[in-house]
Amino acid sequence: MKPKRRYLLYPPFKDELTTSWIARNALNFGMKPSQLATLITENVEAWKPDLDVFINPMFAKSIATNIGIDQSVLYRLSFYGSCDYFYNQTEKTSQVKWVMPLGQKLKNKQFSLQYCPCCLAEDGKRPYFQKHWRLAFMTACPYHSVQLHDRCPKCHNPIELKRLQKNVEDVLYHPEDIAHCSKCGFDLRETDYVLASTDESDINRINFLQSTLGYGQVGNLKFAYSNLYFEGIRRLLSFLVCRPKGERLFMHLRHELDLRQMYHRELIGHNVEPERLEIGLRRSGLVMIYHLLQDWPESFVKACKATNTSTHMIKTPYLEFPYWVTDALFFQIKQYKYSACDDEKSNIVDFFDKRLKKKIKPEQVRRFVRYYFEEHSQRL
Ligand SMILES: [Zn+2]
Ligand SMILES: [Zn+2]
Repeated sequence: MKPKRRYLLYPPFKDELTTSWIARNALNFGMKPSQLATLITENVEAWKPDLDVFINPMFAKSIATNIGIDQSVLYRLSFYGSCDYFYNQTEKTSQVKWVMPLGQKLKNKQFSLQYCPCCLAEDGKRPYFQKHWRLAFMTACPYHSVQLHDRCPKCHNPIELKRLQKNVEDVLYHPEDIAHCSKCGFDLRETDYVLASTDESDINRINFLQSTLGYGQVGNLKFAYSNLYFEGIRRLLSFLVCRPKGERLFMHLRHELDLRQMYHRELIGHNVEPERLEIGLRRSGLVMIYHLLQDWPESFVKACKATNTSTHMIKTPYLEFPYWVTDALFFQIKQYKYSACDDEKSNIVDFFDKRLKKKIKPEQVRRFVRYYFEEHSQRL
């Protein structure tokens, strides 16, 4: 029997996307990435699924045998095997929340994989794509404090590692092709960079640390389990940006924080989740959340009251909320509606008759009740 052929590949970087790792090695051989994916998995369909999220065990076994890598390394390379700190994988599906879908899967979608131009430029001759660039809670580079980009700045098409092209004049693929836009060839390392604001840098650094360490602190909140933090900010971001009922709160905070974010409700669509939002909306939403977390829940409660945002608008019965958000929703915002029976009503009228020493009509009672109980309690 002929011995199995082994391919010598550069190992993946610790924070590298699976597709970036395969593409980078393919380019190094002068090969098209889909071709190397077929060789190492022994399957022509291997390049089609989203390998960054999940590597089918059959592919993993072939890759492990063909290149001599431990299967556990491959498992941890995928988000499915390494998402514990930001998402509770229930093992029922291979889906991982917060991971942004790849461009070609969505209709009319002009953005997808993010990148930091400074990181790519600093990688020298071995540029690669980092895992956190696919996560929706990241909008700025935690190392360089510059804003990430979620599309090619020249032709505005999504960045697609799966469809890398070689330079037209070249016979073979070149290792640095990975740093070029697959549509127009623009060198992404030459993107003009924009410094992130202090708030944006702070929330990105917090998100990056929580997702890599598994714990962290924001404002006055400490999280021993970072997935509870991510669950909460996911609910807040969904309400603020994705749900029509959150529009008033979004506009209120936009004004308060003097953000210039364009906001067209009709363009966001229905049942959209945070990972399907373009970078500008996620950036503004995260900056708003960062502001609310500084003195949680005070500013949040104030903003909800100012915009008549009630608990039942935010809390939906079929979604689970972590304790720190539920506490704010139920103990700080919820206003109980009270009703009185006829006996109680006449007692109240009697009480005010005596107190004010004049006859009052039942319809005037509401005004007095509000005056004596709400205003009074605020003064105390
Ligand atoms: Zn960077
Ligand atoms: Zn382009």
